[in-house]
Amino acid sequence: MLDIQCPICNTLEDSKNISTHFFKVENEEHYFHLCYCQKCEIGFLNPQPQEDILKLFYPDYFWRDTSGASFWIENKIVEKLFTSEIALIKKYSSCSAQPASMKILDVGCGSGDFLSLLNKTGWQAHGIDTSVEVLAKIAAGPDSTITIASIMDEDLPFQEESFDVVILLHTLEHVNDPCKAISNVYKLLKPGGIVIVQVPNYGSFLSQIFKSKWIGLQIPRHLFHFTPRSLLLLHKQMHLQCKKVAYYSIRSSPAQVASTFFPSLEPAHIRQTTKSNIKSFCLKGLYLLFLILLLPISLVEAIFHRGNTITIVAEK
Ligand SMILES: [Zn+2]
Repeated sequence: MLDIQCPICNTLEDSKNISTHFFKVENEEHYFHLCYCQKCEIGFLNPQPQEDILKLFYPDYFWRDTSGASFWIENKIVEKLFTSEIALIKKYSSCSAQPASMKILDVGCGSGDFLSLLNKTGWQAHGIDTSVEVLAKIAAGPDSTITIASIMDEDLPFQEESFDVVILLHTLEHVNDPCKAISNVYKLLKPGGIVIVQVPNYGSFLSQIFKSKWIGLQIPRHLFHFTPRSLLLLHKQMHLQCKKVAYYSIRSSPAQVASTFFPSLEPAHIRQTTKSNIKSFCLKGLYLLFLILLLPISLVEAIFHRGNTITIVAEK
């Protein structure tokens, strides 16, 4: 176990600025300690869990298997849900000036849904992730541009200043040093390049109301918990200039509401508990129905800038 301090202002846990909570993960004999720096508005697990403990919380069903033919419809729906993120890239990058030569890095690309869409859009997209087992399956595909690496690595397999866009969708909260991650992103970006970071919003209405039952908490997989303030402070420290803060993502915001209200219908939970394809299809349909019915909640959160997902666009 590694003791840490606030990653932004370096305040130690015993300061009056830091409040603490204990969490016991359901059905597991593991306790975690969440600290919150009131000055920077960032939550962090302290001490940080060791790798062997963390691995227990990343089982195979955590990732969506996109390889089967039966997932064709699901893959098509997921593609459409990335509309918000694609719109941000088009608006804030130089893609219209140089579409074919624009290089994008998708950090924490997981099962490669977004990466594949970026490549289809005509950009040169590369992805990195750390899960050897999952990526081994994906990398077998004919057009894979995925490398097994971490944004925390000292020797990243890319040249410095080689990317126009670096994107981290629900990735920064999983790394054990977000400052170092953003610092490495800075090195990879060309001058004038942009970074897009999307994380769950610890300051959202949903988080404040549901507290430990909020799906965005995901302890201990999420080592850090950001609000708009902490995300802005972090980028400012790393000399990145904020261009936009968005409080809504079509892919992420409604899903977080539905998963918080009905955790047993959350896609990873269905993958864990349901082996039958028919039952799984029906449960996913039910999840989609609740997702649509609960849509107004995520919209109201976003109107008040308390959306459950925050996305920041910043320029080097
Ligand atoms: Zn702090």
